Amino acid sequence: MLCGLSALGQTLDVKETPTYRRLKQFLDSVPAINTHDHLRAFDSLAGRVKTDRGPGMTLASLWQSSYYTWYNPLTPWPENGKFEDWWARARNDFANARATTFYRYQLPAFQDLYGVDFDTITDEQARQLNDRIFANYRDPRWLYQVITERANIELMLIDPYWDRLGATDAYPFAVHALNVTTLLHGTHPSAYQAPSDSPYHFAAQEKLPMSTLEDYLAVLDRLVQRAKANGAVCLKNTIAYERTLQFDPVPTETAARHFGRARKELNAGQFKEFQDFILWRLVELAAKHDLPVQIHTGHARIQGSNPMLLVDLIAANPKTKFILFHGGYPWVGETGAIATRHKNVWIDSVWLPTISYTMARRAYQEWLEVMPSDRILWGTDCGHAEGMYAAAEITRRCLAEALAEKALRGELREEHARRIGHQIMRDNALAMFPSLRDKLWKHKGKPLAPDSVAKKP
Ligand SMILES: [Zn+2]
Repeated sequence: MLCGLSALGQTLDVKETPTYRRLKQFLDSVPAINTHDHLRAFDSLAGRVKTDRGPGMTLASLWQSSYYTWYNPLTPWPENGKFEDWWARARNDFANARATTFYRYQLPAFQDLYGVDFDTITDEQARQLNDRIFANYRDPRWLYQVITERANIELMLIDPYWDRLGATDAYPFAVHALNVTTLLHGTHPSAYQAPSDSPYHFAAQEKLPMSTLEDYLAVLDRLVQRAKANGAVCLKNTIAYERTLQFDPVPTETAARHFGRARKELNAGQFKEFQDFILWRLVELAAKHDLPVQIHTGHARIQGSNPMLLVDLIAANPKTKFILFHGGYPWVGETGAIATRHKNVWIDSVWLPTISYTMARRAYQEWLEVMPSDRILWGTDCGHAEGMYAAAEITRRCLAEALAEKALRGELREEHARRIGHQIMRDNALAMFPSLRDKLWKHKGKPLAPDSVAKKP
């Protein structure tokens, strides 16, 4: 029987239906535009460790540099760098994680890229898997191959939180966002340890004055201008990891009183007032320079990360394009309601299918019921090739399943489901970030290769 419901009304696994298979195959074929990741330059990839064969990436690296460790245990990589010593203990770490999405989302990478079922992995398979991961990461071609061919990602946006103000693009398939999070802290130069985070350092380099709040705002304007000139395609803010998303309108005189004072001279309320004021100005600058704003919502601090807290800010800034990240998890319904009411809101589903597959599937269906299909985006939010492959695969499965269920229930024609899938995986991002069109390369029919390898005889 080929339909999604049996005669008794019991739901079959939609993934067993030809409708799902056709939709999934179609999504696999769409060269995707991934709107969020943290991929660093090849030599400084997150997760490299010392091993008994020299520095490199290991099986431990792939788990350690993933969201798995947010709430699951992982034995630390041993000082002596020996895989066998790590695995002897780590093999027991996964027992309570088997059903969690933070564990399960990585499995397609092991299965599809290495032919290993991690749920039933043997000690010998684990050792071989580790050897192959180590060997793959000796050559940047591995990244290119997995990301651009296996995961079929044509372009991606990078959030370079390790080099917020100095970021450049490390790969021909990547462009960066300007991460503005720490600009909210800038009452005083002592707020910054790293020059790469400091607007004061930038001002000194550019010989700009920095003694009043007005100066500070002029420096922010210059920073945004320069970032755009250097290729940044949006602003990104992850302040929800530190404080509430309630940003009140604050008078300039109030913020000016706090400027020039070190953090320890301000109480929490005063510091919040300054941050609120700066966030409003950044949102205005984004509109002025025609750059969308990506905002982390949900699943950071749980208190204060509900996207509903942003609604007054969104309503007061209709010219700014707001991209609400992570579908607002767990407030996915609220996020849909915000997008319903405000045309300047896009939803980025990045991370949601790898936080909770079930909630993501439901969210895609709910959002498509309450808002136009041209305002939903997706991303991977990883830092290595396997994670990116896995997140892309899980997202395609989840979206294909959400669309197939609708098609099988007669709520959506299959050809319309295909069009929506194409929009979410690719078209919506190209419309949102039009400068990406100049960087498209797949139509040329030639795979991308890293320069360092191309030069080798
Ligand atoms: Zn991220």
